[in-house]
Amino acid sequence: MFKNTRNLSLLLGIAWTASLMSMTSCRSPAVLSQSTKRPAAVGAPLPIASLTQGVWLKGDLHVHSRHSTESTNNPIAKIIAFSKAVGIDYLCITDHDNHVKGDVAHHTWADPEFTSDAVLLLYGAEWTTTRGHGNVFSAKPYDHQRLYDVRDQRDVAIGAVKKDLGIHLSANHPSGKDHFGYSYDMLESLEVWNSVLWANNANAIMIWDDMLSSGRKLTGRGGSDAHHGVPDTPDKTTENSKQAKANYVGTPTTWVFATARTSQAVVDALTNGRVSVSTNPFAPRVEFYADLDQDGTMDMMMGDNTKATGQAVKFRVQLTGNTVSEGAYTVSVVKNGGKLGTFPATGPTPTAEFTDTPATDGRTYYRVVVEGPPTAYPQVPESAALSGNMVGLSNPIYFNFDPNF
Ligand SMILES: [Zn+2]
Ligand SMILES: [Zn+2]
Repeated sequence: MFKNTRNLSLLLGIAWTASLMSMTSCRSPAVLSQSTKRPAAVGAPLPIASLTQGVWLKGDLHVHSRHSTESTNNPIAKIIAFSKAVGIDYLCITDHDNHVKGDVAHHTWADPEFTSDAVLLLYGAEWTTTRGHGNVFSAKPYDHQRLYDVRDQRDVAIGAVKKDLGIHLSANHPSGKDHFGYSYDMLESLEVWNSVLWANNANAIMIWDDMLSSGRKLTGRGGSDAHHGVPDTPDKTTENSKQAKANYVGTPTTWVFATARTSQAVVDALTNGRVSVSTNPFAPRVEFYADLDQDGTMDMMMGDNTKATGQAVKFRVQLTGNTVSEGAYTVSVVKNGGKLGTFPATGPTPTAEFTDTPATDGRTYYRVVVEGPPTAYPQVPESAALSGNMVGLSNPIYFNFDPNF
């Protein structure tokens, strides 16, 4: 339905452009010279960080515990123990803030179970408002109450509070019910893959491409949005308990390339976009690199931004981890929201390479989606069938994006 609405607006857009063009002949010369003005200069890209000095960490950025009132059988200790058992490195428990009137500090964060010797626990919550949902991610406690209290104000006021708090804000399930109805200029990231139901995310991906195409360097990330744990005893079973076998921590899993194994490094990696998303914690990780001078050494990875030189760039997509031997993986490359091509990834470490020349004028981004054989996730046994052939997706590699946008 949403798709049809969009097609309609596209058609209207074409009609609107045509009517503008027919008006052009009536424009005064002054107006014409305005319209041919060159765009403002783009700031110099930041230096590219090391591609090797860091650590890949995997986690889930959208999980509800018993502090969300509709959750069942999901105390924090159960979530953390499960995460540790499946090798999750970091976690953000994002309970609905409206269920505690914004006071997550005295509920989720104050819960004696909110501690781990193995899993990095981010501080956050699901900002649950009349205008939609967003997740906050922070390495340290912050005054969430302030964000809750301004939820119905205008974006300019909310944006000032958000900036003052120094938090990472991320839109949740952006195309569905309770979509993020605020300015995307307040965001660092976007939930492009919500829950195990990958096929339901097509409209979120469309919104992501629109935001990227308009010059917004927004990270795409995943989140299971799991609410329900496996009951400890049969009498605790609820009508939603079956979800625990299909959608739980790690469906999907968000990988970050962090400079260190710390909560702050996880948040920083999320902000700068060195991020990919995989179907589950055991599925292969998608890594996406570019070799700018084609000397065989990769110079940048997903999330990085540089100036296009006019020379052809060699791109490499690599699947790391539990790949299926003889597995037929397919890499689809998206360039500026359109399809550039499809390439097979083969070999013991399945790899695909392609070459393209980013334009020297205007912005270009490339991102990839990988499909192939499913990877079993025995701890969430019904998940693999639901995610189908989806393996993972990368964040974009950027050219000529304005770092001062
Ligand atoms: Zn939500
Ligand atoms: Zn949620």
